Amino acid sequence: MKNKFEMLATAAAGLEAVVGREIRELGIDCQIENGRVRFEGGVKEMIVTNLWLRSADRIKIVVGTFPAKTFEELFQGVFALDWEHYLPLGAKFPIAKAKCVRSKLHNEPSVQAISKKAVVKKLQKHYARPEGVPLMEHGPEFKIEVSILKDVATVMIDTTGSSLFKRGYRTEKGGAPIKENMAAAILLLSNWYPDKPLMDPTCGSGTFCIEAAMMALNIAPGLSRSFAFEEWPWVDGKLFSSLKDEARSARKSDIDLDIVGSDIDARMVEIAWQNARAAGVEDVVSFKQMRLQDWKTEKINGVVISNPPYGERLLDDKEVTRLYQEMGQIFAPLKTWSKFVLTSDELFEEKYGQKADKKRKLYNGTLKVDLYQYFGERVKRPIKEKG
Ligand code: SAH
Repeated sequence: MKNKFEMLATAAAGLEAVVGREIRELGIDCQIENGRVRFEGGVKEMIVTNLWLRSADRIKIVVGTFPAKTFEELFQGVFALDWEHYLPLGAKFPIAKAKCVRSKLHNEPSVQAISKKAVVKKLQKHYARPEGVPLMEHGPEFKIEVSILKDVATVMIDTTGSSLFKRGYRTEKGGAPIKENMAAAILLLSNWYPDKPLMDPTCGSGTFCIEAAMMALNIAPGLSRSFAFEEWPWVDGKLFSSLKDEARSARKSDIDLDIVGSDIDARMVEIAWQNARAAGVEDVVSFKQMRLQDWKTEKINGVVISNPPYGERLLDDKEVTRLYQEMGQIFAPLKTWSKFVLTSDELFEEKYGQKADKKRKLYNGTLKVDLYQYFGERVKRPIKEKG
């Protein structure tokens, strides 16, 4: 295996910069591209990014990039890559995905078939297997992806397995959950810090609150799940264990947090508690059944994050309009609180009754949504008198 190779952390559109910031915080230099962040590293960086990135989707190894306008160029390009550094004899290597965008080659199944042939031929040659005899694929799996954008092919191996948003704590999700990595990214984009109160008045399965608690406690989001690379012979199991041990001991304790979620639906509140227990944060968050309309607080300098129902899916239009109006009325007196509302409703500001200080376009899966951001007025906390 090579000491260094190129990797991509994929991200939902609009979140590349957040993923880039997280990668830099891990001490790894990177370049931000459309939908992904590119960085270099070895096995250690591959493990660390999978374990620690909160906002990314997957980590992929870039085996190579080359121009491919014809099937012959594609075949030769894939054949020329150094597969022997990645795939041991016996490896399973499905071409799991092919994507062609604005390119001469556009038949994705054919791109998959040709790429497969080229890798097979390369491995037969490298491992001195007779051509014409199929390779046995009974060993560890390496999922290969081919993406052709404007006639340039990028060939990758997925290191992650099921997407990184699957942390392993969410067993029940209720009707319309937000992905864990999207919730984490929104928290990272917000001005919430662990010393501020956080409130999610439409908490559903509790994702925002749980992600916030995990951030505050420095819990590695990948600690309770497995990864595709764990099966690979060139990934040193001892290194992986020691990086997991390091992550476990990086967990903070003894910090005071004020993280509260509430939901009108008692069943969702039960699910949120269940998920918080599975994530190991049940002692630092709290959930209760309450209508958004009944929320009051004396606290200052807090942050509200809400992903309310958005029409079609959960409530009808009239009810949504009413709920957004009431939300506006409930939030208005909280001058020192910042508010972040994620919804696909393009008339949100009108219904809520206030124009957002900032709006950010995001995608919740394939649904276009906006993050409406209202920043609280800055006030100094009252200084406690001595004595
Ligand atoms: N972000 C959540 C999903 C939120 S879906 C997650 O990750 O699971 C919207 C939630 O708003 C639903 O759970 C619904 O029960 C709740 N809701 C709808 N009307 C409400 C109201 N008036 N007050 C409080 N919660 C409400």
